[in-house]
Amino acid sequence: MSRRADDSSDAPDLRQAGLRRTVQREAILRVLEASDRPLSVEDIRARMMGKRPGIPTIYRNLERFAHEGWAEALVGDDQVARFVRCRSSHHHHHLVCEGCGRAVEVDACGLLGSLEEIEQATGFKLTRHVLNLFGTCPACQRNRA
Ligand SMILES: [Zn+2]
Ligand SMILES: [Zn+2]
Ligand SMILES: [Zn+2]
Repeated sequence: MSRRADDSSDAPDLRQAGLRRTVQREAILRVLEASDRPLSVEDIRARMMGKRPGIPTIYRNLERFAHEGWAEALVGDDQVARFVRCRSSHHHHHLVCEGCGRAVEVDACGLLGSLEEIEQATGFKLTRHVLNLFGTCPACQRNRA
């Protein structure tokens, strides 16, 4: 893997996490940032400029991004994991339009009351949850009408 020393950084969050910046990581993040739709690993590779890493390398980076909260995998009806860039550093959810495929991040949860009820009903102490919301975006609703 090619590495280069930290110089002027346009990706400060990579440094904060103590990660070595690599050209590849930046290229993957750029591809995610440029897209308003979740992208599969193959989609990401196809959009990368210059020398492309292999699928396993891209996947490893995405797992790392997911671990750091920079990106997240959304699994649709076809069971394919597609990745989005996460903007918020807090707990949040993503909405995906099933018409056009666009994804929107919502910096809110709204589930906390229900989760407490579930804890009371089951005796579980919940530590995390994952919820992806699918529907029809305003533009697609207008086009349909
Ligand atoms: Zn996210
Ligand atoms: Zn739409
Ligand atoms: Zn939530």
